[in-house]
Order: sequence, then C-alpha cells, then structure tokens
Amino acid sequence: MGGKLSSWRDRDGDILETGLHSFFGGYDSLHALMRDAGIAHHVLWQPHTLTFAMPPGFSNRVGAQAVFEEFHFVDAPSPFNGVGAVLNAKYVFNAFEKLLFATGTLPILLGDHGYASRQDDITYSEWHRRRRMSEHMLATFFAPMALALNFTPVDKISAEAMLRVMAYFASSKNASRAGFLDGPPVDRLIDPIAEHCRSLGQTIEKDARVAELLFSDNRCVGARCTDGRVFHADSVILATPVHDAARLLPAEMLRDPLVHGVGKLTSSPIINGHFWFDRPISKRSNLIFGAGTLLPVHADLGQASAGYEWRGKSFIEVCIAPADDLIKLDDDAIVDRVMTDMHKLYPLATKESLVKAKLVRVPKSVYRASPGAERLRPGARTPVANLFLAGCYTNHKFPASIEGAVRSARHAADGVLEFAGARS
Ligand SMILES: Cc1cc2nc3c(=O)[nH]c(=O)nc-3n(C[C@H](O)[C@H](O)[C@H](O)COP(=O)(O)OP(=O)(O)OC[C@H]3O[C@@H](n4cnc5c(N)ncnc54)[C@H](O)[C@@H]3O)c2cc1C
Repeated sequence: MGGKLSSWRDRDGDILETGLHSFFGGYDSLHALMRDAGIAHHVLWQPHTLTFAMPPGFSNRVGAQAVFEEFHFVDAPSPFNGVGAVLNAKYVFNAFEKLLFATGTLPILLGDHGYASRQDDITYSEWHRRRRMSEHMLATFFAPMALALNFTPVDKISAEAMLRVMAYFASSKNASRAGFLDGPPVDRLIDPIAEHCRSLGQTIEKDARVAELLFSDNRCVGARCTDGRVFHADSVILATPVHDAARLLPAEMLRDPLVHGVGKLTSSPIINGHFWFDRPISKRSNLIFGAGTLLPVHADLGQASAGYEWRGKSFIEVCIAPADDLIKLDDDAIVDRVMTDMHKLYPLATKESLVKAKLVRVPKSVYRASPGAERLRPGARTPVANLFLAGCYTNHKFPASIEGAVRSARHAADGVLEFAGARS
C-alpha cells in the first residue's frame, strides 16, 4: 500500500521513502479525505514562502555565496498575494523582468483556463520565449519548478502542464503553502486511511498483484492475481500507474478513443535521495527549489519534522532530477554529483559531515507531461460500463500529484455509484 507515497526502514532503522512529498494548501480533496480519516493534524504547515536557491556564480546576480530568494506571499486575495510575492523578489528578477512576468502570465492570472489547454502543443520554454519573458527567470525560477512538478526539464515539459500549476497557485490564497507530514507517510497517512476504510466495513488485501482482469458479456467481472486467487466484482476500479494499466487493459480496448492514451503515455524517471548529516547544514525547514543543481526540489526533514527522527541535525530529502541519464549510474557516482551541488548551496554539507546517503530509484514514476500528453490523459470511464480508471495520470484537470490521485478516485467512485444506481 502507499504506491509512490510509500515509506519503509533500512537495516539501520532509518526512514526511506519513494519520494519527498509536500502537501499544498490547495489540495482540497486530499485534505477532506484526511479530515474524514481524522488525520488532518499530521500536516506540519510551513511558512507561506516559496524559496529558490541559486549556487554561487549561477548568474551575474549571484556572487561568491549561494543565494536563497524567498517569495513571501502577501496578505491579499489571490492572485494578488502571489503577484506581490514576485514583485518583492530581491535577486531573481529585476524590475523589467517583473513587468514582463506580469504581462506574460496575465492570461493565467486572470483565470482563463481555456488558455492553458491551448498551449499543450509547445514546451514551456517555447511558450516562455514567445511571451518575451527573461532567460534568467526561465533558468532560476521555472526550470526547478518544472523539475519539481514532473521531473521534466523546461524544454521538454508541456506549456499547459506548467500553466495549470501557475493557475492553481493563483487560484486561492493558501494554494501554494507547503506542508510536510509529521513523520513517514505509511505511519501518518497510509495505514490510518486503511484503518479508516476497515472501520467502514471494507476489506483490504495486501500482496494481491493482479495478473489479469476478467471479462464476461462486455462487463469486467473481477481479477485474477499472480498467486491464482480470483476476486469477483460488480464494478472494478483499475488504480495502477499508467504503465501497469496499459498491461492490464485488453489490447483491443486500448484502441478505443476513451482510453487510447493509456497505451501512449510515458513516465518520468526520478531518484529520491536521502542524506543524513551529523549536524545542521541548513537553517531552513521549508521546501526549497534549487536552480542549476541536481537538487531542484528538496527539504531538510530533520529540521522540519521530529517524526523523521533526526532532530537537531540535517536529513535532506531530495528529488534528484532530471534522472533520465543519471538513473543508469551507480549509487556512488550519483551521490558524489548530488553532494557537489549540495555543498555549493550548503557549505557545511561535506563528506565529513555526511553520515550516510541512500537512493531510491523510480524508473517509471508519474506520467511524463510532454507536449500533447495532456490530451492523452483518459477520464475515469472506459468502454466497459462497470470498469473505471483512477490514478494521478488520469484527467482530473490537475497535475500528477497526491491531490490528483484522490480527485481521480472520487471520479471513479462516482462512476461506480452511477453504474450501481443505473442497475438498481
Ligand atoms: C519522488 C516523488 C516525489 C513526489 N513528490 C510529490 C509531492 O511533493 N507532492 C505531490 O502531490 N505528489 C508528489 N509525487 C507524486 C505522487 O506521489 C503521485 O502522484 C501519487 O502518489 C500517485 O498516486 P496513484 O494512486 O495514482 O499511483 P501510485 O501511488 O503509483 O499507486 C498505484 C498502486 O498500484 C499498485 N499496482 C500496480 N500494479 C498492480 C497490480 N498489477 N496489481 C495490484 N496493484 C498494482 C502499485 O503497487 C501501487 O501501490 C511524487 C512522486 C515521486 C515518485
């Protein structure tokens, strides 16, 4: 259970995770689920600030020391709270760039959602240049944001995917505020949600890997597991990652326009790095976007959360991206490269202060939001009336995320209820 939001312990008892996860303020469906399960208090909200780090010499605006630019969201209704944060930036943007940013992103800030959908054929960097926004802003601000969002560089990610995130950040006052769980996700989120489901009379089968879906009379009647067990069902929700769904759906079904994207979407590789230090190497507990480094998004969970059991010292968790080429290297080579970049941002991060480093590779993580991919995301419905799709790759008008996964589940559950209602 847990999937991409999983955690476990290594031989030393230290916590490993599939990925560093931040929970944003605008994750309405997720927070509603957490409230239902009585676990909303497990989110530790950070100050409403987006921090972008730049290594020394990264640009002519950065001197011999790393710069941490903090975008403080001002106390105003959205999107003015975000506009105010950008206008107050000290290093990343000069006055002219701020003006270009304001005019460039105007259609998004004004809430024209149709505008974003029309930009799926081009990459974000193409869109950025067409809007005449600055190269410096692309490198310092949007490049780490794209890597954090989809583990995909700005010259490969769809403009629509990025614009949707900007629209989301501008959608409500607290949408961009980040929080972390107060401990590993299996303890704080996954097991409690499973317990909540059991308390409602549901049964959960762990270690039940589906080998094949069973069909009869154009209905999905259940699933056969790899261990031979068969489960019968009135309705089925297939909630696997997209590459597993492509394997489990019958080949002829994948030709249907409703679900043809399942066979065509690809996935982004990512490496989640865990770095334990014998001292505090940073003073920050918030989410950090690291421009021009292999640490595009990282956080010091030692400082942020006692539940990560590294209190008073630094435990840096980092999504190492882009990982397309790096993932083929051995662990030592990857750790060396990340440590070189980490040292540039945090001079106290050295081989001497590093206690240990562990990597978790996810060769196929979230669907890759390349140009054209948004149109391929299927809805919950399939050509079979009682078979539904869920998962962060489906089309719920939200990026691949925990919130997207919960939204997709709600769409699929609505489909099941509608099907059951239609039959009764
Ligand atoms: C490194 C990393 C960092 C991330 N950071 C963030 C973040 O900060 N914020 C955020 O919102 N999102 C983040 N995400 C994305 C987020 O984790 C996912 O979008 C979300 O967890 C996806 O949920 P899902 O249910 O769609 O898929 P998954 O979590 O992948 O769940 C699918 C499940 O299907 C199971 N399965 C597959 N095949 C079978 C089969 N044949 N039979 C039975 N079961 C099967 C899998 O074992 C898995 O448990 C991150 C992801 C990664 C990898």
